[in-house]
Amino acid sequence: MWEYHYGGTPRLRPDGSATERQWAEYLYNRPNIAGEQTEWWYHRSACKLWFLVRRDTRTNNVLETARFGELKVSEGTVQSAE
Ligand SMILES: [Zn+2]
Repeated sequence: MWEYHYGGTPRLRPDGSATERQWAEYLYNRPNIAGEQTEWWYHRSACKLWFLVRRDTRTNNVLETARFGELKVSEGTVQSAE
C-alpha cells in the first residue's frame, strides 16, 4: 500500500526531566496491540495530510479517522475531543 504511509502510534514526548530509561522507552519500545489501536497515517500520494486512524490490527478494519485536534490523544489511548 504505497498511497498511505504508517506513522506509528501517538506518543507523548518525555519532558526535560526524563531519565535515560524513560527516553529509551519512548524511542524504542513500541506497542504491538492485537486489537484496536490509534495510529498516525500520512496520505503521501495526494493531500499530504497526517491524520489519525483507529484500526483493529486483527482484521485491518479502519474504525474511525480524524484530523489532529478532532481526537484527544494521550499515551496509548484516544478519545473524542470535547
Ligand atoms: Zn488525503
